[in-house]
Amino acid sequence: MICIPVTASSNEGAIDEMKEAAKFADIVELRIDYINSPDLESLLKERTKPVIVTNRARRQGGMYSGDESARIGLLKEAISLGAEYIDIEHDAVNEIGDAGSTKLIASYHNFDETPDNLLDIHSDLVKLGAHMVKLITFAKKITDNFRIFELLCGSGFPTISFCMGELGQISRILSPKFGGKLVFASLAKGKESAPGQLTIDELVNVYRIGEVDKDTKVFGLLGNPVAHSRGAYIHNGAFKEKGINAVYVLFKVDDQELVGFMEYVRKGYVNGLSVTIPHKESVIKFLHNIDPIAKKIGAVNTVVNQDGKLSGCNTDCPAAVDALDETLQKIAGSSMEELNEPICGKSVLIIGAGGSARAIAFGLNEKGANITIANRTETRGEMLAKEVGCRCIGYNELNDIEIDVLVNTTSVGMHPNVEGSPISDSVLKKGMVVFDIIYNPPKTKLLQMAEEKGGVVLGGIEMFVRQAALQFELFTDQEAPLELMRITVSG
Ligand code: NAP
Repeated sequence: MICIPVTASSNEGAIDEMKEAAKFADIVELRIDYINSPDLESLLKERTKPVIVTNRARRQGGMYSGDESARIGLLKEAISLGAEYIDIEHDAVNEIGDAGSTKLIASYHNFDETPDNLLDIHSDLVKLGAHMVKLITFAKKITDNFRIFELLCGSGFPTISFCMGELGQISRILSPKFGGKLVFASLAKGKESAPGQLTIDELVNVYRIGEVDKDTKVFGLLGNPVAHSRGAYIHNGAFKEKGINAVYVLFKVDDQELVGFMEYVRKGYVNGLSVTIPHKESVIKFLHNIDPIAKKIGAVNTVVNQDGKLSGCNTDCPAAVDALDETLQKIAGSSMEELNEPICGKSVLIIGAGGSARAIAFGLNEKGANITIANRTETRGEMLAKEVGCRCIGYNELNDIEIDVLVNTTSVGMHPNVEGSPISDSVLKKGMVVFDIIYNPPKTKLLQMAEEKGGVVLGGIEMFVRQAALQFELFTDQEAPLELMRITVSG
């Protein structure tokens, strides 16, 4: 069930917000601690959905700063007016007395951490004899969320539980899977009643919260940072299109937490992962199987969990090769020879020698391309060239070689430094195919320069969509809705 807190500071504002919230929420939380002189009778008369009346004291992170007996008095008034629920702090439950038909939610909030003794706190809350308990903590690390999920799985009592804060957002999305009774969403950005609260639009339209249940499979992006990612939009949109009971979330995991996080993945809390910086290499040690090309590349961007056995592969590689292949096929037109293997024999210059350069170099090498690598740090470029079995040149030699296809795998030209180009325009020639794997912006400075010189350009969006589509197929065993994914990324 979804609850939207009303956080207006006036009675009129709260009534308006209640009406708006009632369009989306199963329950509306009336935060009377936000209202100056709340008129409970009018407020409750105007409700169209069940309400939770909350009058949170400052000591529990709320706005109420007045006298404690007056605070409890307002809650008692809400009971006498027939409010469906009141939220009462665990240390004040005994002051409520007879609640009549109103149901009590005994709550505990910790704005600093997710303490070690979660089970003790929960069992103390249950002993208070309320109808439901609410245990809300602050996530300082990603694994705090999974401790909440463990608690929910074994709670045996109607419990609302999740973590606050940016790192806790996944628990706001996933708690219904593990039996959490209520999730909270703000009416709009800026209307949050707690840190990390997602908007109702995000919860419903991106994460399809109404459909998250115990059978929902969990996928997500493992990386740091992850907030910029379009992954949740692409994958959740594709799950919806295909009618698949799955949700895709963002797992922000730093290096120190990878071991703990991967342990929860192995235990089955997560069914599959997209992997990005900085974990594409470090995740390998947690895998039971790795496909041969990912092993050669030394980087994994996809993990699938089958009954605790983790398999890794690299979809960046086939995505880049396929995107380039298609562009070359279009150029080749009717030439049957080129249509079969358009990359074979082409002189390809790869700028860069990082993770994606490795994936692309090995992939194009398999297809018979004649590869040259140029990298800012020449020793790194030379090392990759040696592994692939191709040559490496310095930036000062770029004008001296024949190039059919140029691939930029550096981050030069990426948002926000959109005026940057990894090479000067003297390298670009008419008819040259220029593939820039950067997808933000869709058309980089390099691609603009290449077009001006009469080149054929390919942006990074096509690779990005294809690597996500291949992941989708590995996650679900179903064909990816490629066109929808393309529209989602571009939009
Ligand atoms: P990475 O492993 O960190 O490698 C970065 C590469 O860029 C290195 O070769 C580095 O050279 C070079 N570089 C960085 N700054 C430079 C500068 N100022 N001048 C010259 N060279 C510079 O990164 P990655 O994972 O390969 O990602 C690189 C880019 O590809 C990013 O923009 C990323 O968004 C994009 N990408 C796109 C897709 C897609 O699906 N379209 C997939 C993956 C990545 P040094 O060795 O000298 O440091």
